[in-house]
Amino acid sequence: MNGSLALENVTKRFGSFTAVDNISLELKEGEFVALLGASGCGKSTTLRLFAGLETVTEGDVKLQGRDVTKASASERNIALMFQSYALYPHLTVAQNIAMPLKLRRLSAVQRLPGAHLLSAGVKSQEEDIQQAVKKMSEMLRLDQLLDRKPGQLSGGQQQRVALARALVRDPSAFLLDEPLSNLDTQLRAETREEIRAIHQRTGYPFLLVTHDQSDALSMADRIAVMMAGKIVQVGTPAEIFNTPATQEVATFIGHHRMNILPAGVAQQLHESTSGLSLGIRPEELTIVQEGGLPATVDTVTFHGEETILKLRGPNDLVLRSVLRGRSDLPNEGEQVLLGANRNALHGFDSDGKRAEIAK
Ligand code: ATP
Repeated sequence: MNGSLALENVTKRFGSFTAVDNISLELKEGEFVALLGASGCGKSTTLRLFAGLETVTEGDVKLQGRDVTKASASERNIALMFQSYALYPHLTVAQNIAMPLKLRRLSAVQRLPGAHLLSAGVKSQEEDIQQAVKKMSEMLRLDQLLDRKPGQLSGGQQQRVALARALVRDPSAFLLDEPLSNLDTQLRAETREEIRAIHQRTGYPFLLVTHDQSDALSMADRIAVMMAGKIVQVGTPAEIFNTPATQEVATFIGHHRMNILPAGVAQQLHESTSGLSLGIRPEELTIVQEGGLPATVDTVTFHGEETILKLRGPNDLVLRSVLRGRSDLPNEGEQVLLGANRNALHGFDSDGKRAEIAK
């Protein structure tokens, strides 16, 4: 591998507990990767291994092809942003953004007010820093807000200051751990677009750690799905959504949980399933006039743009169907027939691995 930042066959154990289990993951130059998984699966530990905040038990970490397994966090020059991004409340936006550069470039004495009057070296350092702050604040549309204090900014603007502060020192990569979890729904959607745009403008490799599939699907070039310390699938958002590698990934991804029909029931819907279980997304399971799977409508729940039917199929199997638009809705208690387009069916073998369904 010769990518920008990579973990190669990395394992991390805490005592006898394996938090990260032999994973390989590469952030290519300019790429946006999301590491997606449920709470406790090992995402944050993986991010910390990339950053150098945690040492690997086994395996290698590579930065631009160089082995940095033993290098400290500061030697790797990786920018980080966490869920809570405390800005310095008494400093202006400009001073907040400049802080990482000041901490790195200037000694404690040089950081004292007025020090630039004493030394020409400090003065040119100061000018470099102002230049970097200007560039970053223009990129993040903060140039009109440089003299304000964090308390005079909206939540979204504060978030952008935190991003600017993380990126100002020209990092080798940018790692974000659940940066959106404290935001309300609308700000979250806006910030997704914002982060995606910042990625495109800066071109740094980004790694986003999230448990929220919408974050991953909407922002990333590639998604790595993590479960119990292992990476179970890596692919584009469309690949992960349309061709999940396992039944676990299939039921994890998707706003509405995928229906799984065990082999016996699956055969009643589609003849040539040859012993496979069938997965059908609720949006793809519809009411048909003939030839479908018999089911009883248990509940009909209206959600505005969509209506969710909870149904009971053969062997009391619980199924869900999501109807969009103004389709004629059945009544609770009604008997219906369910069908799905063949292209929308996902086959899984008895180990839960994706398998081809015979046509
Ligand atoms: P969340 O989304 O809840 O933060 P996560 O997927 O980021 O979860 P990690 O924080 O990476 O998960 O933790 C993975 C597992 O490793 C958890 O079971 C956690 O308890 C364990 N773990 C993490 N850090 C340590 C540590 N320093 N010592 C012992 N166990 C740890």
